[in-house]
Amino acid sequence: MPNMVVCVKQIADPEAPAGSFKVDEAAKKVVAGAGVSQVVSPFDEQAVEAALRVKDAHGGKISVLSLGKDFVMDVIRKPLAMGADELILLQDPAFEGADSRSTAYALAMAIKKIGEYDLIFCGRQAADWDVGQVGLGIAEFLGIPSVTVAQKVEMVDGKVRLERVVADGYEVIEVSTPVLITVSNELGEPRYPKLKGIMAAARKEVPTWTAQDIGAETSQLGAAGARTKLVKLFAPVKEAKCEIIEGESPEEAAANLALKLREAKLV
Ligand SMILES: Cc1cc2nc3c(=O)[nH]c(=O)nc-3n(C[C@H](O)[C@H](O)[C@H](O)COP(=O)(O)OP(=O)(O)OC[C@H]3O[C@@H](n4cnc5c(N)ncnc54)[C@H](O)[C@@H]3O)c2cc1C
Repeated sequence: MPNMVVCVKQIADPEAPAGSFKVDEAAKKVVAGAGVSQVVSPFDEQAVEAALRVKDAHGGKISVLSLGKDFVMDVIRKPLAMGADELILLQDPAFEGADSRSTAYALAMAIKKIGEYDLIFCGRQAADWDVGQVGLGIAEFLGIPSVTVAQKVEMVDGKVRLERVVADGYEVIEVSTPVLITVSNELGEPRYPKLKGIMAAARKEVPTWTAQDIGAETSQLGAAGARTKLVKLFAPVKEAKCEIIEGESPEEAAANLALKLREAKLV
């Protein structure tokens, strides 16, 4: 029976109207308005669903890991309510200022602490920053293969068979365990938690692991372990102008329009 780990990130609801987010250029941060709720990143719910489908077919254990701060417990418990077995939070000031590399390092160290793992699932990208690197970074730190953008994951004769999304179709890949898989939205709708699952999830104890708990070197964590630097963060200024092109007749208006377009080098 496979041991599975799913990495899920809590983010500000990406479906909230764009106007409810502000860019703080000085702090280089995106600030979500007070009315924006927190959610589990949607691709990560699909990663949980992929693990649950393997569990439905073969049994096994699903551990969910989330690294961050200001967790909203009713939100981050959702994978438990869907059917995952345990949830572990990674929270420590040492994780602050992380980039993809230091996020991947911390998650990989936590997975090592979990110990036994056959399948590790991530979303294809987090739906806030959309970087799409953390999963691959975890695989690199653990020294295991990875397969990206899976739309179907099955275990056949002890191996993992995946459908991987490509332009206009999919390819079928077979890989041995342990493997890290990033899951795409083509997998289909994640299941809704049932009342029984929600109640059971609310009762489960959720441990929080610090940098020390996962045996991480602080020089590899957060800002200290980051290898990328965010130089500038800004919202593009969009300008729209409307000019009415006139003429004595429709033909003249059309000719004037053509001249304008040529002046603007658009035709
Ligand atoms: C504690 C913390 C502090 C940060 N501080 C800063 C900062 O100061 N400045 C700044 O610019 N950015 C900051 N970030 C954002 C960080 O740079 C990005 O989260 C990182 O580069 C990864 O990009 P992404 O979130 O798009 O993940 P992707 O690479 O798109 O994520 C792919 C998949 O990896 C998994 N994953 C990603 N992140 C997590 C997570 N946190 N927990 C569990 N699974 C995860 C999910 O399965 C996800 O679908 C911070 C992030 C964290 C977690």
